Amino acid sequence: MNKKIDTLKELTDKPSRIAIFSHSNPDGDALGSGTAWMNILTKLGHDVKFFVPNSYPSFMEWINTELGPIDIFTATDDHKDFIDEADIFFFLDMNNISRIDGLSDYIVRNTNAKKILIDHHPQPANIFDLEFSFPDSSSTSLIIYKIIAACGYEDLIDTAIATGLYVGMSTDTGNFTFGNLDPELYNAVANLAGNGIDIAELNIRLYNIYSKDRMRLLGHLLDKRMVFVDNSDAAYIYISKADQSDFNFRQGDSEGFVNIPLNIDGINISALFIQTNECIKISLRSKGEIDVNRMAREYFNGGGHKNASGGKFYKGMDNAIDTFIEAIRKL
Ligand code: 5GP
Ligand code: MN
Repeated sequence: MNKKIDTLKELTDKPSRIAIFSHSNPDGDALGSGTAWMNILTKLGHDVKFFVPNSYPSFMEWINTELGPIDIFTATDDHKDFIDEADIFFFLDMNNISRIDGLSDYIVRNTNAKKILIDHHPQPANIFDLEFSFPDSSSTSLIIYKIIAACGYEDLIDTAIATGLYVGMSTDTGNFTFGNLDPELYNAVANLAGNGIDIAELNIRLYNIYSKDRMRLLGHLLDKRMVFVDNSDAAYIYISKADQSDFNFRQGDSEGFVNIPLNIDGINISALFIQTNECIKISLRSKGEIDVNRMAREYFNGGGHKNASGGKFYKGMDNAIDTFIEAIRKL
């Protein structure tokens, strides 16, 4: 780590134009780590923008207004010029440029920019000039915190930066219930708590955000759309287009639902299938040593972490579910 920190400091020792990128369908870790790192670099005198490829659920809009700005990439001249003229690119919370969809076309145009990865997904692509890749870390936000500390920038952490980092640490661990809940995580939280963040208020903002429709949808799914796979420790939930229109489904409404079957004693693998216009979007979760990252890579054009992965399937809901059951049988 020390040598990489030296390299990072060398690369950022004079004022630069810096573009930070995070992944499609950005989550709390993407937005929290991205805004925090942007604010640190801005305080160090750099000209920084934080781009994401598409929008985020409305319950996270406050992150944009209070901790941001977050630039949703629009391919306007303003955005393209900034990326074309950037000296440094940071890629946060993703292991490959393919995770930013169409935005990657604009990134590859700038061959001068140094590409720096800060991430906790396994198997990063071999395309970065400098890599902070820690698959055992529970969030990218925790890695950002450790980099800030290792650089000696802790004094730059203000309430907004601490809040962003806390958001990522909390959301990527299901509010500190899964993942690598090691002492370093709790030490980081303890230090962030000293920066004026209101954890009780953040719990409300991050988790007590159901609409009435969303709560009814959850009831419907648990009653009618949750299936236990025979002779296995797996369960899945599927959400059809009709279910979505019946409950006024909005982006983010199914966030976290895939974890719910794992609350059942004896269920160790869970999947969520959502029908979209283009494909079936799949989320996979597991307990312990069961590797759903491998399943996502082999069967669903995806990837992620050992216990939390996702992917896409283009041959309809029934085939997606059959493929999942087949993968369970082979596991
Ligand atoms: P989620 O189920 O919450 O959408 O995603 C869980 C994890 O799987 C995330 O860490 C994310 O990085 C990964 N993931 C989700 N969808 C995809 C995908 O389409 N491709 C890849 N490579 N990873 C994905
Ligand atoms: Mn993450």
